[in-house]
Amino acid sequence: MTQETVFSQIIKGEIPCDEVYSDEQCLAFRDIQPQAPVHILIIPRKPLKSIKDAEVEDKEMLGHLLLVSAQIAQQEGLKDWRTIINTGSEAGQTVFHLHIHVIGGRKLTWPPG
Ligand code: 5GP
Repeated sequence: MTQETVFSQIIKGEIPCDEVYSDEQCLAFRDIQPQAPVHILIIPRKPLKSIKDAEVEDKEMLGHLLLVSAQIAQQEGLKDWRTIINTGSEAGQTVFHLHIHVIGGRKLTWPPG
């Protein structure tokens, strides 16, 4: 059985979210604890725990997520932004349902912490 996460509950409508985009493959909404003026999460409806679990059959969907992330960033008025996929707890992943962060609207430093 697929493990329930806060994001699978958001997909099912059991937890509310500030939605910015939705289609048959993905959902995008504002992060509840934004790290920048724009901080949006794009998640697949398919419950992959992380990019580690992605398979060749997910190739089209993963490409779609990236294109949607860029479309949303530009709709939000961003010229520059960062696209992040934290993978595993050591890398900062706290919700084990694959998600892409789009962060922007302020000067971003590198390297990340
Ligand atoms: P991670 O650390 O796994 O890469 O990112 C998880 C993100 O999900 C965090 O930035 C966190 O603030 C966000 N988050 C956790 N729970 C919720 C929630 O219930 N609603 C929304 N909108 N974001 C959440």
